[in-house]
Amino acid sequence: MPILLLGGTGEARALAARLHPEHDIVSSLAGRVPDPALPVGPVRIGGFGGVQGLRQWLRDNQIDAVVDATHPFASTMTAHAAQVCAELNLPHLVLSRPPWDPGGAIRVASDVEAAQVVADEGFSRVFLTTGRSGVAPFTSSHAWFLIRVVTPPDTDLLPCNHEVLLSRGPYGYDDECALLRDNTIDVLVTKNSGGALTEAKLEAAENLGVTVVMIDRPALPAGVAVVSTVDEAAEWVTDLEHH
Ligand code: NAP
Repeated sequence: MPILLLGGTGEARALAARLHPEHDIVSSLAGRVPDPALPVGPVRIGGFGGVQGLRQWLRDNQIDAVVDATHPFASTMTAHAAQVCAELNLPHLVLSRPPWDPGGAIRVASDVEAAQVVADEGFSRVFLTTGRSGVAPFTSSHAWFLIRVVTPPDTDLLPCNHEVLLSRGPYGYDDECALLRDNTIDVLVTKNSGGALTEAKLEAAENLGVTVVMIDRPALPAGVAVVSTVDEAAEWVTDLEHH
């Protein structure tokens, strides 16, 4: 029973490790990150070419089910998978890790709204952790930005005062505190990504009195089956194959 596992997250790699080689899975990565951490087992890399391309790929590869373990903010891929699986009547599961507790964060619905809050509240030293595609709304800001990304953002999108910090998690509490302190950060901007690997920045910000602006997750497509742990997703696959 060939299963497509949409990945790009630690959870997707953990799920692949649980399922391979007992189950016939192929993992899929978008191909954005050079030298990505690869899951075990077969992997394909690159976009499918929209809804049509995905539909064709699933047919060509005789896929019987799809587990979407993409990042909670990869909403286009998630929407495409939900649409095509519904059309083809394929079993489909979303593995979405639990969100962080926003605590005292200022919650916003988008990166554009986050940029508005930073401007309205007059923050001057911003730690921006919303990823390469989250920089654009801040381009015209005159605050200073520490921009932590895995791959460099387009240079024409960068705000005039900034430093780009190229790095990949996980990050520890002490290092996050040092980064906030050394750069005299007054606001942290983050997506509500969830997960342990990048969570330390929240505790560091809270303990140092740094304001957090947190972007809420996009809604999942209506009616999809969702689990929040790798164990539940592995169980779903096992159950599927026993029926
Ligand atoms: P997105 O906006 O939802 O997707 C944009 C396009 O990228 C999709 O339409 C699809 O292209 C392609 N794509 C995305 N995920 C794919 C996958 N697993 N396999 C094959 N093609 C994929 O996604 P995104 O936010 O750019 O994220 C891209 C990848 O990075 C995802 O795999 C995600 O899990 C990972 N990631 C994202 C974030 C984040 O904050 N967004 C953070 C960490 C990791 P086609 O239309 O051509 O099929």
